[in-house]
Amino acid sequence: MDLQDPMIVEVLLDLPLPRRFDYHASLVTEEDVGRRVKVPWGTGQKVGVIRALKHTSTYPLDKIKEVLEIWRDVPPLNARDWQLLEFCSAYYHYPLGQTVLAMLPPALRRVGGWLPPRRVRQSRNDPAQSSTMPLNKDQRAVVQTILRQPHFAVHLIHGVTGSGKTEVYFSLIEEVLRRGRQVLLLVPEINLTPQLEQRLARRWPTLDWVSLHSGVSEKERARRWLAAQAGTARLVLGTRLAVFTPLPELGLIVVDEEHEASFKQQDGLRYSARDMAIVRARQGGVPIVLGSATPTLESWHNARSGRYQLHHLRERAVPGACLPQLTLVPTAQEGLSPHWVTALHETLGRGEQVLVFINRRGYAPVLYCPNCGWQAACPRCSVRLVVHRRARQLRCHHCGLEQVLNEACPSCGNVHMETRGEGTQQVEERLRTYCPSASLLRLDSDSLALKGSWEKAREQILDHQVDILVGTQLLVKGHDFPDLSLVVVLNADQSLFSSDFRASERLYAQLLQVAGRAGRAEKAGQVWIETDYPGHPVLLALLQHETENFLDQELALRRQMGWPPFNYLAILRVEARDVAKVAAFLEEARRKALARGGEGISIFDPVPSSLARKAGFHRWQLLVQGVQRAHLQAFLTGWVDELRAMRSGRSIHWVLEVDPWDC
Ligand code: ADP
Ligand code: ZN
Ligand code: ZN
Repeated sequence: MDLQDPMIVEVLLDLPLPRRFDYHASLVTEEDVGRRVKVPWGTGQKVGVIRALKHTSTYPLDKIKEVLEIWRDVPPLNARDWQLLEFCSAYYHYPLGQTVLAMLPPALRRVGGWLPPRRVRQSRNDPAQSSTMPLNKDQRAVVQTILRQPHFAVHLIHGVTGSGKTEVYFSLIEEVLRRGRQVLLLVPEINLTPQLEQRLARRWPTLDWVSLHSGVSEKERARRWLAAQAGTARLVLGTRLAVFTPLPELGLIVVDEEHEASFKQQDGLRYSARDMAIVRARQGGVPIVLGSATPTLESWHNARSGRYQLHHLRERAVPGACLPQLTLVPTAQEGLSPHWVTALHETLGRGEQVLVFINRRGYAPVLYCPNCGWQAACPRCSVRLVVHRRARQLRCHHCGLEQVLNEACPSCGNVHMETRGEGTQQVEERLRTYCPSASLLRLDSDSLALKGSWEKAREQILDHQVDILVGTQLLVKGHDFPDLSLVVVLNADQSLFSSDFRASERLYAQLLQVAGRAGRAEKAGQVWIETDYPGHPVLLALLQHETENFLDQELALRRQMGWPPFNYLAILRVEARDVAKVAAFLEEARRKALARGGEGISIFDPVPSSLARKAGFHRWQLLVQGVQRAHLQAFLTGWVDELRAMRSGRSIHWVLEVDPWDC
């Protein structure tokens, strides 16, 4: 196009509308497509991204405003980037403008403040020598099979905990880097990045790589993102948000702990980073490796049906290390169970570490009055308030509400209030009384609220300054503590009877991952699990270390019940302060859905969400099921337009979620 022509640019903005906005721009070229711009919006300004250029507009030309600035200091998004973003926007039925702006690092979404970056190497505080570990036979076989196929393929590595999956990833990465390609390594948790950062730094002391997660400052995040885009950073280690990082020379994607729920974004653009990583690998024609000791049923099904290649690591990698011994014991009614305190003493006596797992933070989940029956409940949510004794507070774990913990019952004045159930704080207190000489560390999101406190805790544990760890699921994700040889799971039954069809899968994964923390190195591990249902299939399979049987049985069950992965789901979530408005909106949405219908589509009745009220909002949902992905997508495309056109007003919030992980 001629530079002299009056030009109109189509700009994507962070607005909940599936359309582009026209602006005049002088001196633009095709080179500017994919660049960020500053444009006037109402009385203010917005940052957008140019999607296309054109000469005419359907709007009156004199009404169209002028672009204020085109930022050319950083490269534009390229065709590959657009391909992924457009797929993502279409698949999740989320406006492209919001998708693109959600994927940019926050510093690049702001109207002011961004300064052209100065490249600074990410500091490495580990000057150790480059180290590699000779792979064992099983690891070598996996690496060789994968490397033989330098094209798109999904590889699922099912490896027991401690089987050396990370070493397998590293060998693959090494070869891909050697071939001159970039690598994307995704991990579920920001807490796991320091551990991997150290291992990466030790393995490749001179490699230019970056880590991207929400704990990195905005400016630094933008700098690292740009380094990846420019190709100077050869490897990106990151949490789910890193899946969209531009990598012009991408050669391999690794998704570690692929079963982790944190790969699913739960607000805004509700994407699965694992799924987007697979799409990205397919678009780029490169291999992707998913690793887990407890694969999701979706991945397992794909592996069983031959769409993914399945690889096994059946033994622990450290020579002499074996899988832990599991024992089920009845749940203690009060205090510590005599069943495992002997093991606790013996373990401490040998100078080894103990992990006590309880999936509930705070002191106690219930505060009640034995006189009149009053219970402390959140006035804004349909849940009880949790007692935080040390802070002398009652807290809502859903909306953040905090109340002073009063001595007396607000209903009858009784001053002898009681609690029921236990949280991490109470368990910590009991253990302190019981083992006064042991040093104890509690790890939950309360104790880890401070930035950097996890890194400190990890060092303390590795340094053996801690004898007993008390913690929630934060602790279980892929951490490797060689001196830890005893794991106790308190009250495992809490989640046995959930209504979510994924409950068994999740419980199995959680228990196996916690158990997997025991005896990672040469020390034999023991795991004690408190349950009152020792015959439950999840627990039986766990006891036998029969993960594959469990997954196969669970798959058969899902097929029989007609749940994913044998069909596909989308969920319409609606919330408002006024429950009547929620009902009216859902009724209309359902009518439209039924009228629309479609091949292979089932529309369920609206039901209250599992947390039926949150922060004063009533929450309901409507499930839509498609026999095939294409059926569901075809249905949603028309339905979402109808939903957008419904005049619901500002008081209703609704969101359409494709492939929900919580139903
Ligand atoms: P996973 O990710 O499968 O849980 P890791 O990769 O963290 O397992 O490895 C578990 C432990 O085994 C680590 O301490 C690691 O150093 C060790 N390890 C891995 N591969 C080997 C090997 N080939 N020989 C000896 N030890 C190994
Ligand atoms: Zn009372
Ligand atoms: Zn609340």
